[in-house]
Amino acid sequence: MQLGLDGMPARLVRVTPSRLATWEDCRRRYRLTYLDRPVPPRGGPRAASTLGAVVHTALQAVFGDAPARRSPARAALEVDRRWSSEGFRDDAQAATYRERARTWVADYVERHAVPDAPEPTGEVVGLERWLSAPMGGMVAEGRADRLDDRAGETVVVDYKTGRRVPDADDARRSPALALYALAARRTLRRPCRRVELHHLPSGTIAAAEHDELSLAAHRERAEGTATELGAATDAFEADPGVAESLFPPAPGPRCASCDVRRHCPEGRAAAPAEPAWAGLAP
Ligand code: SF4
Repeated sequence: MQLGLDGMPARLVRVTPSRLATWEDCRRRYRLTYLDRPVPPRGGPRAASTLGAVVHTALQAVFGDAPARRSPARAALEVDRRWSSEGFRDDAQAATYRERARTWVADYVERHAVPDAPEPTGEVVGLERWLSAPMGGMVAEGRADRLDDRAGETVVVDYKTGRRVPDADDARRSPALALYALAARRTLRRPCRRVELHHLPSGTIAAAEHDELSLAAHRERAEGTATELGAATDAFEADPGVAESLFPPAPGPRCASCDVRRHCPEGRAAAPAEPAWAGLAP
């Protein structure tokens, strides 16, 4: 059991990959996103987020069914059922991306999910699966897009729909994928070393095989970050006056699409706001 500074058992810090990433990215954004109450109003919907959500939930619906009931046409239909035009520039742009999303998921399902698929991805053992596992001084939590079983090992699958095509280094360096692998081991009690980024727009899969050392390095870094953000959170809850000193802004290009920039003068000065449809895959 870990002890805090006062000799009492230290509180476990609950973290998700997005909390850890936000803390490392910009502490003011962390405070505005996770700590301030009432929750400060955010920016409006962004097209890239809308598109990502539609694709994720369409694939969830298809993979939730038996392989015999999956088909490219069914996948395209699931996109139509969930389609939303929020954040797109206009109806024409939304229609273009709707058609692209239909093609992406139909091609993906044909290649990986139907009974005679040329590149089968294994038996699905988790869809949008909530994982939670204590590790040292933190509880790592999060929702994995998909967990596959391949020859008795769990594989972590994360869908991507953005502009950038990820590579194997992205998969290896991803703190989120490594934490999901660690949490999946604890939750499913099966080996889990392989993590994959499935990029729908390019139809590519970026994969990495972790070993004990690489997972331990990810875990150590996450625990260090969790300790920092837990201590800052405790200090802020005890005295909100520490907000500016413990949660400084980190102005930079990222501020252009930050959804709390309206509350951040430094961020607004650092970068003009991007339109809501910036960041879409070309
Ligand atoms: S606008 Fe920039 S500096 Fe301000 S909270 Fe957002 S990311 Fe941080």
